[in-house]
Amino acid sequence: MAHTDIIVLGAGIVGTSIAVYLAKRGLSVALVDRGAPGDGTSYGNAGIIEGNTVFPAAFPASFAELLRIVTKRSPVANYHLGFLPQIAPWLLSFRTASRPVRLIETAQTMRPLFARAIAEHEMLAAEAGADGHLSRRGWLKIYRTDAAFAAQAAERDVAQRFGISNRPLDRDAALALEPSLNGVFRHAVHWTGAVSVDNPLALTRAYAARFAALGGLTLSGDARSLHRSDRHWRVETAAGPVDAGDVVIALGPWALDVLSPLGIALPLAVKRGYHRHFRPQGNAVLSRPVLDVENGYNLAPMEQGIRLTTGVEFAARDAPPTPVQFDRLLPAARGLFPLGASVEPKPWLGARPCFADSRPVIGRAPGQRGLWLSFGHGHWGLTLSAVTGRLMAEMMTGATPFCDPKPYSAERFMR
Ligand SMILES: Cc1cc2nc3c(=O)[nH]c(=O)nc-3n(C[C@H](O)[C@H](O)[C@H](O)COP(=O)(O)OP(=O)(O)OC[C@H]3O[C@@H](n4cnc5c(N)ncnc54)[C@H](O)[C@@H]3O)c2cc1C
Repeated sequence: MAHTDIIVLGAGIVGTSIAVYLAKRGLSVALVDRGAPGDGTSYGNAGIIEGNTVFPAAFPASFAELLRIVTKRSPVANYHLGFLPQIAPWLLSFRTASRPVRLIETAQTMRPLFARAIAEHEMLAAEAGADGHLSRRGWLKIYRTDAAFAAQAAERDVAQRFGISNRPLDRDAALALEPSLNGVFRHAVHWTGAVSVDNPLALTRAYAARFAALGGLTLSGDARSLHRSDRHWRVETAAGPVDAGDVVIALGPWALDVLSPLGIALPLAVKRGYHRHFRPQGNAVLSRPVLDVENGYNLAPMEQGIRLTTGVEFAARDAPPTPVQFDRLLPAARGLFPLGASVEPKPWLGARPCFADSRPVIGRAPGQRGLWLSFGHGHWGLTLSAVTGRLMAEMMTGATPFCDPKPYSAERFMR
């Protein structure tokens, strides 16, 4: 039987970052996962560390866009019809949270985390010897129509108020930045401060290695074995049971598998998303991630090739993959960048853990001594992982948190 100060359940980028920050504060920590660090959702994202995010992903603002999604013609979103009754309450909350005034509120509420996101990753990556995976060339968003470009004016206004740097570009200026793109768009915005990662799995593994170097224990085990034993929390692992006074649930889209049996109900949903790698044709190169705003996909240069990530799919987390969005968006993607053969036979599928208000849950679990929550980072779990690790470590050790953690508390769902 091992005893540690803290057990962290889930070795995705969020749990691994938390474990590192706790270990840096001198605590003994067991990081438990049923697989290897980084193999879950954190494996397959678009690799963007985006301190610049202003507005979260939102419910379609126009009836025309909603109709295109409903009739399954939009590349931006897909859904399983039989899943709609289950997800309907969440979608209604998401629509309410997408009202313009609420988007501005969310931007303000999330700002402290986004504002420190890049700095915390840069520090962690340097300590972990993973700085070579980070690239500081920003993120390019392209707009095919004047209307789509005009629609993001409000976001750029708020960005200016926050002091977030971005450069609106015409087509020629964008092509000067990314000469292998085809000029099928009219406008672009270069968010100059964004950092990108060329291998998100390697980054999580580097953080896990840093954790081990700090004396942390990485163990294989099923988080669903979590239970109370006397005054401690206990989890069963391949190395035997581990006890700790505090436990962190950092299980991303699987968090409720552990929390529901403990009687903790939180309105977490998943937005599924796919990726696939393609070889560039000829000498084509991409220097930074590029988002095709109207089509909802992103192209990102990775070690494995050009990673094309899709928009969202509303379906049960464990339902079989239905990667139909590739059929809808590949013609547009091939028109934008000369994608060659695909690298793998099948797309990868992941599930973004999302709350409808686009805020994660970070902090104590209501009514359960020693139980802490850290999940629901949605579209920005890679970005927010390191800063979440810092905030959690500060809260769990009684230090003064660098920002007010109240807006991220699970209590907001208990009113
Ligand atoms: C297509 C796509 C593109 C994205 N692009 C970006 C991006 O560019 N930038 C960004 O910031 N974010 C992006 N994201 C979001 C980001 O990837 C996620 O928010 C983030 O990976 C969540 O990390 P996590 O550690 O919470 O979850 P995960 O990485 O899923 O980790 C959870 C861990 O829990 C473990 N686990 C689950 N059940 C059990 C159990 N019973 N016992 C033990 N262990 C268990 C899993 O094995 C896993 O390792 C994207 C997501 C997708 C799907």
